[in-house]
Amino acid sequence: MGAVTRFAPSPTGRLHLGHAFAAWTAYRTAKESGGKFLLRIEDIDSGRCRPEFIDGIFEDLEWLGLHWDGKPRLQSEHMAEYAEALEALRKKGVLYPCVCTRKEIEAEVAKMGHAPHAGETVIYPGTCRGKNIDPDSVKNFSWRLDIEKASALAGKDLFFTDKFKGRIKARHDIFGDIVLARKDAGVSYHLCSVWDDWKQGVTFVTRGEDLFDSTHIHRLLQELFGAPVPTYGHHRLISDENGRRLAKRNASVTIKALREKGLNVEDIFKMF
Ligand code: GLU
Repeated sequence: MGAVTRFAPSPTGRLHLGHAFAAWTAYRTAKESGGKFLLRIEDIDSGRCRPEFIDGIFEDLEWLGLHWDGKPRLQSEHMAEYAEALEALRKKGVLYPCVCTRKEIEAEVAKMGHAPHAGETVIYPGTCRGKNIDPDSVKNFSWRLDIEKASALAGKDLFFTDKFKGRIKARHDIFGDIVLARKDAGVSYHLCSVWDDWKQGVTFVTRGEDLFDSTHIHRLLQELFGAPVPTYGHHRLISDENGRRLAKRNASVTIKALREKGLNVEDIFKMF
């Protein structure tokens, strides 16, 4: 059976060369195996996502000839499902409400003298864990995943396979007790990504190696949901001429800008 892959951009700007490479990687992986290439629009952050960027994604992919199979899945249309997924985890007893502000977390970590970091992220010191905060009694809170409880519930070591790195043992504690939802702003990337890969029947996740660490936590969420485990291919990132990773601020390398400069699709693919 062919691989089912997906391209899952967030519509917070126009697609750039890095996105085109990610989409092309997913497309080729699917097509070379006789599988399917799906499109998912990760638009849960209503403050940053804009409808015109969704249209821009469709336009750029079509121009690149990376035609997706079926209807694109818009995450904003599935919020009720994510709420149910969150509720299922809460019922398993692996979530707890946290009322800490970012400032309080930083102060707490500073007090500890040594700051555990995952990349640039400060690891939450677990201040609200075990406090049994009643979510109805507080105005703002986040649902955090109790990694120790969740790992205990999984009850065994978990593994995932990356096409480039081989079989990897998942380190669930890589980010500490992560936030899965916020009362004010809804659900997190981690929860929606795992849920949707499952619901869309994705069997091969291709994405940038900047998201490699997230896979450790996704593997645990899959176990908690009872979801199948896709294979992963964390691919290299495209850099600019100074060796820096491309970001949305690199307006000059959006696919639209390159197209308007007169480049054709072959020129774009040669830039990877
Ligand atoms: N929405 C993410 C991004 O644009 C991609 C997430 C993923 O591929 O899992 O970086």
